[in-house]
Amino acid sequence: MSLTTLGGKKLPTQNVGEPDVWNRVFKKFGRQYKEPKLVIFSGTTRTACGTGQSAMGPFYCPADQKVYIDMRFYQELQRKFRAPGDFAQAYVIAHEVGHHVQKLLGIADKVVQLKQRHPSSANKIQVRMELQADCLSGVWANLNHQLHNRLQPGDIEEGLNAANAIGDDMIQKRQQGYVVPDAFTHGTAEQRVRWFSTGYKAGRMDVCDTFKASKL
Ligand SMILES: [Zn+2]
Repeated sequence: MSLTTLGGKKLPTQNVGEPDVWNRVFKKFGRQYKEPKLVIFSGTTRTACGTGQSAMGPFYCPADQKVYIDMRFYQELQRKFRAPGDFAQAYVIAHEVGHHVQKLLGIADKVVQLKQRHPSSANKIQVRMELQADCLSGVWANLNHQLHNRLQPGDIEEGLNAANAIGDDMIQKRQQGYVVPDAFTHGTAEQRVRWFSTGYKAGRMDVCDTFKASKL
């Protein structure tokens, strides 16, 4: 795995630093891929989408096409969610880069319009958006392995474990002790794991149409 050292901390930036995977996929479709920028911050940070806070977890801002991550989230991933491992970290960034891919493909803008037209279904629409980003991160994991032979035994399990640990139902259970399905915006742990696996097994984007899927 490609690592960048920043302030003595090693960061997995294989997806951000190595644009091979999405570059190739986009080229295949006659499109050009533009890499997102990765911004490491602590506490709060100004973004084109408003103020970013560590408590929000890692996020992608479509307006400036940057992925924001607070290093403490990784530590939390390890401790609170019991999802250690470098692939778990790569999965988290790959999910955010998935949102960037959605932005470049025009999906993100369509979703904004769809939510404006159907405000009462906004959460449900967002879940489809999130599960698609999970599926795209699975596609990335597959293709990145084909290109660079990057996966080591146990890596996919690490990614799945992270997907499982940060499902909305798991997060809600930890935070409030019960689950409120209406407030789901990322999908359940089971859904996140399944969509990641779908993308990973196929290694193709066309299996990631969560907006058409009858079963999420
Ligand atoms: Zn997301």
